[in-house]
Amino acid sequence: MCGIVAIYASSPVNQRLYDAMLLLQHRGQDAAGICTVDKRVFHSFKGMGLVRDVFRTRNMRDLVGNCGIGQVRYPTQGNAAATGESQPFYVNAPYGLVLAHNGNLTNAKELTRELYEHDRRHINTTSDSEALLNVFANELQETTSGNHLDEETLFGAISATMKRLKGSYACVCMIAGHGLVAFRDPHGIRPLCIGKNIDENGNTEYMIASETVALEGSEFSVIGDIEPGEAVWIDEKGVLHRRQCAENPQLSPCIFEYVYLSRPDSTLDGISVYSARLRLGENLATEVLKQLKVEDIDVVMPIPDSSRPATAQLALKLNKPYREGFIKNRYVGRTFIMPGQTIRKKSVRQKLNAIPMEFQGKNVLLVDDSIVRGTTITEIVKMARSSGAKKVYVASGAPPVRFPNVYGIDMPTESELIAGHGKSIEDIRKEIGADALIYQTVEGMKEAVGHFNPEIKQFDCSCFDGVYVTGDVTPEYLRKVEEQRIREKMQAKKTQEAEDS
Ligand code: AMP
Repeated sequence: MCGIVAIYASSPVNQRLYDAMLLLQHRGQDAAGICTVDKRVFHSFKGMGLVRDVFRTRNMRDLVGNCGIGQVRYPTQGNAAATGESQPFYVNAPYGLVLAHNGNLTNAKELTRELYEHDRRHINTTSDSEALLNVFANELQETTSGNHLDEETLFGAISATMKRLKGSYACVCMIAGHGLVAFRDPHGIRPLCIGKNIDENGNTEYMIASETVALEGSEFSVIGDIEPGEAVWIDEKGVLHRRQCAENPQLSPCIFEYVYLSRPDSTLDGISVYSARLRLGENLATEVLKQLKVEDIDVVMPIPDSSRPATAQLALKLNKPYREGFIKNRYVGRTFIMPGQTIRKKSVRQKLNAIPMEFQGKNVLLVDDSIVRGTTITEIVKMARSSGAKKVYVASGAPPVRFPNVYGIDMPTESELIAGHGKSIEDIRKEIGADALIYQTVEGMKEAVGHFNPEIKQFDCSCFDGVYVTGDVTPEYLRKVEEQRIREKMQAKKTQEAEDS
């Protein structure tokens, strides 16, 4: 998962890009990059780590220009440890293009082969985003001549690009001398929105970002979402053009954005994330009431931070006290790699500490937004018990995560998921050590989120129901992803051992 942002303005954009990336930091903490353009010259800086650690004043000074794009990355495909894989990516022809991408292409391997064998383009990394940029560059190259670029040609090239790409992609891209473009895949799996600002001289400035929180926090007013399959172009004169570029667009946003990924103060595809989370709590309460006697629950407690709205609403519905039994350390630091020392596994206990008085002698209902690998909740159940809880019940705001995600969230293989391979709820309960385990149902989740925008006919719920909206994800594909993941893990282990010896 990643966060992307683009600004087309009438004054330098470096500081505003940086600030917007801080607002999108929750979408990726692995790497950050900014590229600006000034008189057709790109200026870029990228590195591994958090936005505040990557950029120094001297880097910011070099990022001149009134137009730019940025990305915060959480790796989902490619080599996570390589700085060369940080975005934005650049190609020099046609015009000079720089692109940042959020999502994951499911046909990246085929595209890389096609690009090499047919289009004679070289892909230098394992990143699907580099392949995506080269497909776009190739389609643009095929349809343009000279330095001129018009609306028909540009949107035609984006349509041709969309025909070749499979999977999820929300992209922002600068074209040297020709402004800024952004486009979203025909299912609109990952979010992308646009806003505007009128500067003190009456000029219109535009901003495009993964979430509305980045627009609002930068004092841009939200125009709305970029539609699935839609492309927008802000040309060199600052004029905004919009066009539907897909043949059969069908909005199917990723439901996990509402469950966990996005900030609660964002609104995506017409749905306030916060409202969706409140309603997830309400629907979860219905499940709790079916499976537990309400008089057996003394307190209801969130696992901070993302489950708070759902927990508050659940507690209200059960008419039970809401209590904060776990406090999160907001300043958990970096893990330093010292010679001869393996990377310290960041334990849950480093991040959370319990307040024993909230547990002693009580039956507690712990609520998390979701259970993925199960490591967090297993540790938390132990903490609740060692803090004196009599009974520890667990409720999950999302249904069991049973299937890998191939659209840009790091849930790559079934064997890593605690609910993978059809495991029974009872077996999961035993594994996490809880006295009861209650999950949201898939219907309850869809109802909670979909309630706020009835126009959305389907969501991508693939990690919960195994239905992949792009229609190209076969068991064979998933098997290959799993094998790749095992290879990557073994490679990472070898590298670590080599560093330690
Ligand atoms: P775990 O079950 O230990 O993998 O951690 C699950 C918790 O981490 C959930 O409560 C979410 O808050 C959060 N989470 C969400 N997405 C992911 C993900 N892709 N990988 C790991 N943790 C996630």
